[in-house]
Amino acid sequence: MLQCTAYTGVPEIDTLVALTTMHGGPDNPPHALTPDHFLLCELAQHDEHTEHAAQLWTAEIPAVRDLWLFWTGTSKAETYRFAELPPCPAAYHPKSVTHGQACVLYEQHPGGHSWEVTDPLGDLLEERARQEVERLRDADDQDCTD
Ligand SMILES: [Zn+2]
Ligand SMILES: [Zn+2]
Repeated sequence: MLQCTAYTGVPEIDTLVALTTMHGGPDNPPHALTPDHFLLCELAQHDEHTEHAAQLWTAEIPAVRDLWLFWTGTSKAETYRFAELPPCPAAYHPKSVTHGQACVLYEQHPGGHSWEVTDPLGDLLEERARQEVERLRDADDQDCTD
């Protein structure tokens, strides 16, 4: 299934407050704030009644909850809230019982687990980056032969 394509601007002041007051949050909240100021919804595509969700902070201690930003509506009339939620307990073990991939979403999230969600934009950017690296490497090789 595809990833939801919604994104939102980070409500900076409120996010700083939430990071500062959360249990087990970052030592330096301003540094923890995502630098690009936009967050993508990390859920699988969903209907308009389901809130979009983006993780703001991953707790370093597994027992501690992660901080999530939930929002609904469009940029003109957006409402958002913060929630500290435990991680989704699901894990995907395609080959081995001990080595699995944990779902990066929160407990009782809607839609598929993170490993079931594909992100065409992310994949596209990754492919672009890979091609760029190859192009630079080829350019380097040519420099050497000159
Ligand atoms: Zn969404
Ligand atoms: Zn999950």
